[in-house]
Amino acid sequence: MRDELEQQLHDEYRDLYAALDADEGDDLYKTPLARYGVQCGDGWYGLLDALSAFVTDQAGDETIVLHQVKQKFGGLRFYHGGLPDALSQRQRQMIFGAITFAEQFSDQICELCGQPAVENDAPMSRARCVDCRDARRAVDR
Ligand SMILES: [Zn+2]
Repeated sequence: MRDELEQQLHDEYRDLYAALDADEGDDLYKTPLARYGVQCGDGWYGLLDALSAFVTDQAGDETIVLHQVKQKFGGLRFYHGGLPDALSQRQRQMIFGAITFAEQFSDQICELCGQPAVENDAPMSRARCVDCRDARRAVDR
């Protein structure tokens, strides 16, 4: 994801994306999020923004910190460092549910541009719209 969008996520959800500006010596410094940033395409920014807003809202006064955000096997992965003990069972269920939903739904959204993705059944496939898929094929030829 390009820096500008990553920065927007960090500015909007400082606790969640705290790893993005972790200093050496900080526990978060060695997380994949600190080392590599958000490892997926710009097309999932809207999905990440909505998921981050929901998770932050559900967490209330508690803090949830992301360790890794990436694309794997064509879908979004949103890994946090564990949920605070103070959260209720309902809060946990809502957060886990939202993450599961977003991870599942990501393959319906083009990872590159955010348009609806076309059906993609290859094992190592990526979520791509018709335009991005065809553009890639044109390059491959
Ligand atoms: Zn696309």
